[in-house]
This record gives sequence, C-alpha cells and structure tokens, in this order.
Amino acid sequence: MDFELPGEDDPRRLEVRRWLAEHPRPSGPQLAEAGFVAPHWPRPWGVDADPVHQLIIDDELRRADVRRPVNPIGIGWAGPTILAAGSEAQKERYLGPMLSGQEVWCQLFSEPGAGSDLANLATRAVRDGEVYVVNGQKIWTSFAHVARFGILIARTDADAPKHQGVSYFICPMDLPGIEVRRIIEMTGAHLFNEVFFDDVRIPAENLVGEENRGWALAKVTLANERVSLSSGGVLWGDGPTAFDLVDLVRGAGGVADPLLRQRLARVYIEAEILRLIRLRTVTAAVRGHPPGPEASVRKALADEHGQHVMGLAKDLAGTAGMLTTAGPMGEPDGVWNYGFLFSPALTVGGGTAEVQRNIVAERVLGLPHDFDVEAGKTWAEARRG
Ligand SMILES: Cc1cc2nc3c(=O)[nH]c(=O)nc-3n(C[C@H](O)[C@H](O)[C@H](O)COP(=O)(O)OP(=O)(O)OC[C@H]3O[C@@H](n4cnc5c(N)ncnc54)[C@H](O)[C@@H]3O)c2cc1C
Repeated sequence: MDFELPGEDDPRRLEVRRWLAEHPRPSGPQLAEAGFVAPHWPRPWGVDADPVHQLIIDDELRRADVRRPVNPIGIGWAGPTILAAGSEAQKERYLGPMLSGQEVWCQLFSEPGAGSDLANLATRAVRDGEVYVVNGQKIWTSFAHVARFGILIARTDADAPKHQGVSYFICPMDLPGIEVRRIIEMTGAHLFNEVFFDDVRIPAENLVGEENRGWALAKVTLANERVSLSSGGVLWGDGPTAFDLVDLVRGAGGVADPLLRQRLARVYIEAEILRLIRLRTVTAAVRGHPPGPEASVRKALADEHGQHVMGLAKDLAGTAGMLTTAGPMGEPDGVWNYGFLFSPALTVGGGTAEVQRNIVAERVLGLPHDFDVEAGKTWAEARRG
C-alpha cells in the first residue's frame, strides 16, 4: 500500500464522528440522508467523496459497527445509471428510498437466449402513446420476488443491429402482466426467479435516457466501483475468507494430511495475492489514476479462489462434510456448507470465467477481439471473410 489514511484529527474523520455521536444507531434513512451509503455519489445523494474520503467514512462506520442498508442491485447498478442518464424527476423519485434500503431493486437483463451475449435479448417494448407495451421473458433475476422496481432492458427497434435498438427502463414490479416464478437453488435458498412479461404497460416516463440508446447505459455502471479497502469474503465480498479457514484449522491444532496442507497454503497465497491486487487498485484510485486492468484480473482470480476455499473447507470436514450442519473442523456450521453449494455460481454470475478471460485477453494483453461487433461475426469468422 503506497498511501496512508489521514490521522485521527482529520476534519473529515471528525465530522463523521460528530454525526455518529448524534446518531449512535443510525437507521437506513438517516445514513442515506447523511450521504454515507454511497459517499462517492454527488450531493445530495452522497457527499462527492473522493477515494480517501470514502475510505475514511468506511473506516469510521466500521469502528462504530454501523452497517449500511443492503440493496446491491439498486445501489450498485440502478443508482449509478439513473445518476448518469436519468431525468431530474427520476433521481428525485428513486434515489432516496433506494439508498435507504426501503425500496429493493432487481436487474431484468438476462434471458434464456441472452446471457454472456446479452445483446441477443428478445424481450420487446413497443411504444403505444404514453406507455411501452412489454412482452418477453427474463431469467436469473435475483430479488425479483421482493423488489419494488427493476432495471429492464428491452428491444425497441427490432430492425436495428443487435447492439442498437435496445432501451433501458425502470420497471415497477407490481404492474399487471408481470409474473414472477421462483427458482430454488441447490443451496435450498431462493435468490433468483424467472420473470414473464405479458402486455405489461410501462409508463413512457420510466424510460431512462433516450430510446434505442440503452446498450451504452447497460454498461455504464461497470466503471462505478466504490473504493474499498476491505477485500471481503470469498462469496463476492460476503462470507468467510481464506484467512478465516486457516484460522479455523490452526485453532483446531492443524491438519496432518500433506495434500490438504498444500491446498491450505495455496488458498492462503491466493488470498494474499488478491489482497495486494486490491491495494494496488486503491492506491491508483487515491492517486487519481483511472482504473487499470486490475479489476478484471481480480474478478477472474477471485471467483475461482472462492471455489478453491469452499471446496477445501468441504474436504477438510471429511465424511462429516456430508452433513449440512458440520463445518470444516467439525464445528457447527453457519456458512461453509451454504458457501460450498453456492460457489459454482461465482464463475457464472456477473460475467463468466471465460468472459472475464476474454476481457483480460483483449483489454490487457491487446489480443484480437473475440467478437467483431460491427460485422456481427467472431474474430475467426471475420478473418476468414
Ligand atoms: C448467482 C447469480 C445471480 C444472477 N443474478 C442475475 C440478475 O439479477 N439479473 C440478471 O439479469 N442476470 C443474473 N444472473 C445471470 C448471469 O448474468 C448469467 O448467468 C451470465 O451472464 C451467463 O449467462 P448464461 O447463464 O446465459 O450462460 P451462457 O452465456 O449461455 O454461457 C454458457 C457457457 O458458455 C461460455 N461462453 C459464452 N460466451 C463465450 C465466449 N464469447 N467465449 C468463451 N466462452 C463463452 C460461458 O463462459 C459459459 O461457460 C445471475 C447469475 C448468477 C449465477
């Protein structure tokens, strides 16, 4: 790490402390009103925080044991897009309850025939006076069963090339014609759903940005990662870390099996590499440098690392691992079994492992495009003419 966080007497730190003294157990709406949920957003939603200011606020909230509202798709995806391209009325209506966690959001992007190749989407939205009439199907929609709103991409010009003719909407999830069918995961949990649209009438004022310009918006939030020092758990920032697993093994007196010991050393090394990559990213942000390739490299490594950690935890448990109640060293299990069953999803959601590698190959290593967008062909097809 090539920077130091400002000390105890930094005025920005003192300001957060003063606020926390007045709000010792802050609610979601109070945190949102103070601008501490997404401090890097512009005022009045955030506090225009630069990277160091963000790290200070994180630091102070952590010390005070204050947790931010949980609304990952709203705050991580929908919000930044509305900030970038939404109307003033949309910002006014949606951003406050999103930040406070009072209105949960979902993301209606993937379809049965459009995942990695998202531009292949077939859901149609046809303008009819003051509404768009939407027909089609989405899938893998996390939180659709609890969401108040969804960000929806749908085709508004069927004749345009596939990256054009797509529009971006705010979709109220209680509109007539929307059917949410749950999908139960192999973890036993219910996270995602299928969502069917049958002549759903979305008000035209819910279009974000311009009609047929939604593809650029669908990508807008990718550059919006909040600066965070914490590398978090191995399940996309949640759950335990490799260091937690090593501590568990150490606490139980170690492990004799040489192969398990090697695998423990391996996940420890991976975790340390990921921690250093994270610090590099933060250092660059603090110095005002644009985000480098580290984020793509990090995701490619981190997703597989999560699978290595969870697979090892299961193998450490031995035959007891067949019970959902037994953790890696025989202790009662809270998270490891769920993490093991969830971990295959890590290399699928948010861009598969292969797609991450394509990004690294093209943008970091400068290798030719996998897919020639203009010609609508793969690179190999384009070369053959
Ligand atoms: C936990 C979880 C939560 C999710 N939540 C949401 C959500 O809230 N909203 C939403 O819209 N979607 C969500 N998704 C869906 C997710 O975005 C898609 O699963 C993902 O984009 C992959 O698409 P797909 O499943 O259709 O697989 P496909 O794209 O069909 O891929 C199948 C296989 O082909 C490979 N492949 C595809 N293209 C290439 C290529 N060009 N080069 C090399 N290999 C390739 C892939 O890597 C993969 O192995 C979620 C997924 C998961 C796992």
